[in-house]
Amino acid sequence: MADRKPRIDEKLARVAFNIDREAHITVAKESCPGCPGRPCLSACPAENYTWNDENDALVFNYEGCMECGTCRFICPLDAISWSYPRGGFGVAYRWG
Ligand code: SF4
Ligand code: SF4
Repeated sequence: MADRKPRIDEKLARVAFNIDREAHITVAKESCPGCPGRPCLSACPAENYTWNDENDALVFNYEGCMECGTCRFICPLDAISWSYPRGGFGVAYRWG
């Protein structure tokens, strides 16, 4: 039987994280209720950005960040402060 290429969800299941307690991304959430389109909600591949309708507020978790940098560039209100995690922390793709 020919080798089957792994699906993306199978590859992502092999990604490892060494989570730093110091956040490498922070968001000035007070800007978010007035944000046009809130592009972070659909652009983040890790789904780290969600919207809490009850509180009308952004919910953001930096854990699980793939370090793709997308949110850094798409935020129209420049509300995101972004850096790579400190050395030794963050995502490791070598398991997939
Ligand atoms: S794109 Fe920026 S301003 Fe808009 S909701 Fe996301 S973090 Fe907030
Ligand atoms: S860098 Fe990429 S994976 Fe990390 S929070 Fe931003 S969009 Fe999501």
